[in-house]
Amino acid sequence: MIKYRLVCKKCNLSFDSWFASSKEYEKLKYKKFLNCHNCNSNKVEKSLMAPKLINKNKSEKIEKSLKYKKINEKIQKYQKFIKENFDYVGENFSYEARSLHYNQKQNKKKGIYGSASLNEIKELKDEGIDTEMIPWIEDKNN
Ligand SMILES: [Zn+2]
Repeated sequence: MIKYRLVCKKCNLSFDSWFASSKEYEKLKYKKFLNCHNCNSNKVEKSLMAPKLINKNKSEKIEKSLKYKKINEKIQKYQKFIKENFDYVGENFSYEARSLHYNQKQNKKKGIYGSASLNEIKELKDEGIDTEMIPWIEDKNN
């Protein structure tokens, strides 16, 4: 089954109609079996849905980019917070995380951040060291 939006060329009424297939639609149209509900004219044609579809895609795209922008803003705020409150240790993250974990008596106030592989994070977790993964956006302006 296929649903078409049909438009009457005479009175401009548009209505939805179901057909077994696009071929059936062509056949009914050819035999002038397609009639307008309103004025009974057989000048009924499949309406072009394209403009509507384009609009829909466009608004979806805008919505997505807005969502993406919001997420970006959140991440950037989070990054700013981390940069201000944590020490950057770069690739040494798992080493530094361990030393922080096992030398807690040193009472280091600041947390750390840096990069680690998934394996390293898993190992840290196995040792009971809490880590949090966040998506990171490189700030190209810096
Ligand atoms: Zn009509």
